[in-house]
Amino acid sequence: MTRTTASWQAADSAHFLHPFTDFQSLAKKGARIITRADGIYLWDSDGNKLLDAMSGLWCVNVGYGQQALVDAATKQMKELPFYNAFFQTATPPAIELAELLVQVCAGAASGGDPPRASGGYTRQFNHVFFSGSGSEGNDTVVRMVRRYWDILGQPERQVIISRNNAYHGSTMAGASLGGMSGMHAQGGLPIPGIVHIEQPYWFDNAPVGMSMDDFGLLAASWLEAKIEELGASKVAAFIGEPVQGAGGVIIPPATYWPEVQRICDKHGVLVVSDEVITGFGRTGQWFGCETMGFKPDLMTFAKGVTSGYIPLGGVLVGGRVAKVLIEQGGEFNHGYTYSGHPVACAVALANIRLVRELGLVERVRDDVGPYLAKAFETLADHPLVGQSQSCGLMGALLLVKDKTGRSGRGTSFEAERGVGMVCRGHCFANGLIMRAVGDRMIIAPPLVITRAQIDEMVALIRRCLDLTLADVRDAMAT
Ligand code: PMP
Repeated sequence: MTRTTASWQAADSAHFLHPFTDFQSLAKKGARIITRADGIYLWDSDGNKLLDAMSGLWCVNVGYGQQALVDAATKQMKELPFYNAFFQTATPPAIELAELLVQVCAGAASGGDPPRASGGYTRQFNHVFFSGSGSEGNDTVVRMVRRYWDILGQPERQVIISRNNAYHGSTMAGASLGGMSGMHAQGGLPIPGIVHIEQPYWFDNAPVGMSMDDFGLLAASWLEAKIEELGASKVAAFIGEPVQGAGGVIIPPATYWPEVQRICDKHGVLVVSDEVITGFGRTGQWFGCETMGFKPDLMTFAKGVTSGYIPLGGVLVGGRVAKVLIEQGGEFNHGYTYSGHPVACAVALANIRLVRELGLVERVRDDVGPYLAKAFETLADHPLVGQSQSCGLMGALLLVKDKTGRSGRGTSFEAERGVGMVCRGHCFANGLIMRAVGDRMIIAPPLVITRAQIDEMVALIRRCLDLTLADVRDAMAT
């Protein structure tokens, strides 16, 4: 590579509009140019090595440089780089991937499920609809659940309930399902028929003195209140991430999801689990709903299905919805050019086989997940850390200015202080990629990370916390 960093940056700011970016302020600084990667590490165009504690964007689960995925793409590109699935045609990788996905999600909804009160259906996943991304997958969800109720003669059952601070993508439907106020403020969102309830975030939303478990039940009761306010006959579905990712790794109390499930079943409302981040082992089970103890009717996936090596997403469709769409639905007027793209599906097949071969899901559950939890706990003694939490290989540290405030829950910094961004700056400068969501510092490292690398990551985090503390000491309570 002969271009200098400055030359890359100049061309970048001249022509490339980055996602979720203030274009002008990036142009002033210049982008960091990432040029290569191996395992859990990245290198930039100046040769700096960075530990990627975010797996790219929550996706490179098998780590960088896995030859099996490269070979699968090369082979498929030579044999058949593209064919669509519109014209009553299919390609072998898409069929094989659908088969394999059905196998790996068997635990997410066991076939032996007792029939539910709302219709005697099973939640077994036997079908998949492919998209090109997580956002598109959630667009499919909106189309599919509304179509489902239409077919059943209940077209007024259109409303989808989601949560504040959820992230479900950046298309019109994805951003509307999401509960990000900054996104809703631009472009006239949310679209009609999507409403939001408060998130199950204990730190911000639990009454002082309330236990986690009681708060889980309280947060779930907000869903029932909303269903009753709207009238159950208007509510099509509830959608949620088992653990909110982009919202700051918000891990709900253990009581939350089972109660959500009970409420949705009682009112006949479909449950959609957005597994774009939590799918394929991130939480120590194949899908986050298994960790959180609920059985959804639909699951959105993307990211980890190919470990980000190539774009692919989709929706796993459980028996209740599939049966109606297939047996009574006629033509479903929806699909994408790249639904079931053969190269993407070939890479996904190689990726899922590798996840199985390396036993990554079990590794997260039994080995590196618990190890990370312990290592993360050691950071709780740091003066800045009000809360440290992890679930499998996703975790968050909440930075607070006073650990003892609000009956021991901790007092937040003033938002203008931007303490998360200060910390993130130190991370970058010290060879660590960690993301800041407000004052929550979050991680989701590749599932192949070793114990020694977790130690290295935690030592880097501690150093960056110390550097941050030095910058904000004047704002601390004592
Ligand atoms: N759902 C969730 C839970 C996500 O985290 C994301 C992306 N971070 C999406 C959907 C959207 O996926 P994509 O960016 O592939 O469209």
